[in-house]
Amino acid sequence: LFAQPATFLLGVARLGQLPPAMVPEVAMAGRSNVGKSSLINALTGRNGLARTSNTPGRTQEINLFDLAGGRLTLVDLPGYGYAKAPKEVVERWTRAVFDYLRGRPNLMRVCLLIDARHGLKKVDEEVMDLLAKAAVPFQVVLTKADLVRGGDLSKLVRDLEGRLARTAAALPHPIVTSSRQQQGIDLLRAAIAKLARP
Ligand code: GDP
Repeated sequence: LFAQPATFLLGVARLGQLPPAMVPEVAMAGRSNVGKSSLINALTGRNGLARTSNTPGRTQEINLFDLAGGRLTLVDLPGYGYAKAPKEVVERWTRAVFDYLRGRPNLMRVCLLIDARHGLKKVDEEVMDLLAKAAVPFQVVLTKADLVRGGDLSKLVRDLEGRLARTAAALPHPIVTSSRQQQGIDLLRAAIAKLARP
């Protein structure tokens, strides 16, 4: 699935602009600055496909990327949880994304990105609840694993597995990644490739 170069399809500010629900979609979600753009670039092997930024909260559009000429669409959801007025932004994000999650029949899975340094934040918990409510299967993906010591990482994974075991919509095991060190990228690619059209 990742052998051919991924291409940018379009960015939408409103859900009405989304293309018809023909191709299976996998969406990437996470707090601002979690490393989502870096991960999408690592997955697709295309630096600059998703714009990385040190300006948290900049991307407000939903960006769609084509994989393998229509076999799967990777959906980059706006980062959440960073703002001077977090509540308002989170509410806006929640509304837009919840509408997307509820209304998108071709959404196969959400990858929920969690910074391995910070673990689950309250807002991540809220998104997990939202995904559970919408019955969207989700995969937790830990990012920036290179910045965390092995022992701390193992403990975080164990704690997360305990939490995920209580959530029906959650896949049981987090995938540990580092875009910088190319760790876990093949594993995540394989997990996503399973959801593509043949
Ligand atoms: P986004 O806002 O979620 O799209 O996050 P970015 O991909 O722009 O990354 C935010 C910051 O984290 C940038 O300074 C990246 O260089 C850094 N970063 C992203 N992934 C990694 C990683 O795997 N390891 C390390 N050490 N830093 C990372």
